[in-house]
Amino acid sequence: SLRPAVPLPPPSQPLSIIQYALSLLHSPTTASSSTLSTTIFLIDSASGRHLTYSTFLQQVASLSSSLKALHPSLSNKDVAFVLSPPSLHIPVLYFSLLSLGVALSPSNPSSSPSEIDHQIRLSKPAVAFATSDISRKLPANIPVILLDSPQFLSMLESKVSGPTNDAAVNQSDTAAILYSSGTTGKVKGVVITHRNLIALIAGLYHNKLAKDEEENTHSVSLFTLPLFHVFGFFMLIRAASMGESVVLMEKFDFVKMLEAVARHRVTYIPVTPPLVVAMAKSDLVDKYDLSSLRSLGCGGAPLGKEVSERFRKKFPHVEIFQGYGLTETSGGATRTIGPEEATRHGSAGRLSENMEAKIVDPQTGEALPPGQRGELWLRGPAVMKGYAGDDAATAATLDSEGWLKTGDLCYFDSDGFLFIVDRLKELIKYKAYQVPPAELEHLLQSIPEVADAAVIPYPDEEAGQIPMAYIVRKPGSTISATEIMDSIAKQVAPYKKIRRVAFINSIPKSPAGKILRRELVSLACSTASS
Ligand code: ATP
Ligand code: MG
Repeated sequence: SLRPAVPLPPPSQPLSIIQYALSLLHSPTTASSSTLSTTIFLIDSASGRHLTYSTFLQQVASLSSSLKALHPSLSNKDVAFVLSPPSLHIPVLYFSLLSLGVALSPSNPSSSPSEIDHQIRLSKPAVAFATSDISRKLPANIPVILLDSPQFLSMLESKVSGPTNDAAVNQSDTAAILYSSGTTGKVKGVVITHRNLIALIAGLYHNKLAKDEEENTHSVSLFTLPLFHVFGFFMLIRAASMGESVVLMEKFDFVKMLEAVARHRVTYIPVTPPLVVAMAKSDLVDKYDLSSLRSLGCGGAPLGKEVSERFRKKFPHVEIFQGYGLTETSGGATRTIGPEEATRHGSAGRLSENMEAKIVDPQTGEALPPGQRGELWLRGPAVMKGYAGDDAATAATLDSEGWLKTGDLCYFDSDGFLFIVDRLKELIKYKAYQVPPAELEHLLQSIPEVADAAVIPYPDEEAGQIPMAYIVRKPGSTISATEIMDSIAKQVAPYKKIRRVAFINSIPKSPAGKILRRELVSLACSTASS
């Protein structure tokens, strides 16, 4: 059931992820140099401004040599913090830093100053890049280069001749320190090497070659994802390696996204589950010409089988590919590939190339056979080096044999397809039973009058915890708490029943589409005690 291993460059060969990505881009199967001058890489969806591959690479060369001139001491021991909404400058900056071997550490521009302080304590940046309005959140002792300053703009335009002046970068050097989403606790700084990213992109490129034999259309993807999170980060490098076009949205907006699909004839959207739910449920989608769309790639949080089947009924020409990954795996660790695997609704797909897995009994540490639930452990060349500034967390997560403990409760079926039940930390403990909230959320989302839902543990004297649902009703719906509880009770074992319901206007979610159950738990507790 394993996918064939994909050959990787010898680990000792000095090579940055950018040199590797560009070697794929320049390979005869991807693009010839004449098409790079006409093929568009990046489009800003709001303004329509765009960069061709040639212009993009020219800007990368300019910026990296200007940065080197400005900060001659910047080396591959240094970290650069990045705080900005997505714009055409961001990919140029990422590629420049990566090709200089300076570790890139992008953060959520809407983080609070204290969250930023925490991240900076972990990654210890030597320099920061930020837009001027957001730069105020940075501590005063870090030198800042403003992304909207005349200085930065001139660094993009300084004429340099020849290709990027790559520093000697070793594959084992840190490429990026990416922050985990902080869903289960404090954000961690995940150290990703050039080797990790090379391994990841090698696998994705391998599939692209196989796919192109079937269909030969130019892919235009629309990024609704933030570029600071691992999902958007690796998808950006992936797109560049394959000569694809990427439409960037500075600020996510559902209607603007639909307009952008129609205007730019978008073929592919990497998404998180809330967007699939929204598309499956919204009546607005019928107003737009989405005929160019061929597939969605969904990951980052659990996608219910019911929702994905409903989406397919509504959009029979759009395939949903699912993927599962962690910041700690540099990107997708499993995914579905091709039309046959895409029909496995509810599964997160099979292991990515060069990735190994086992399902482990969280109590005994014993490996379990297919069909049995346990913690998923992963190993492979795309698995992180460790956590920055937190040796204890590294030791608790990576074992001496290189296995990464994901904290996710999962099982494989006998065909090697992975099913994610929920995070171990988020299981609701009802009496002696464990209830996965994600399973109940999927059932709730399939109720037509429910627009969105989240399930949390609610303290209970007798049971310890009971499952409680927060519900967003569809506009005009008057569905009651009792009707909702009854509808779920018919579908689940008695211990999984929802025993409390509250209505809310929207479910709090992280930028990567994860339900922030911790926020709802505090809300439930504060409402109960007031
Ligand atoms: P933190 O580690 O800081 O608590 P986080 O785990 O949410 O936050 P990420 O690295 O962004 O940070 O997310 C990885 C997690 O997202 C996985 O461990 C898993 O729980 C969840 N996840 C990712 N993809 C999927 C998927 N396809 N289905 C279900 N869950 C997924
Ligand atoms: Mg995590």
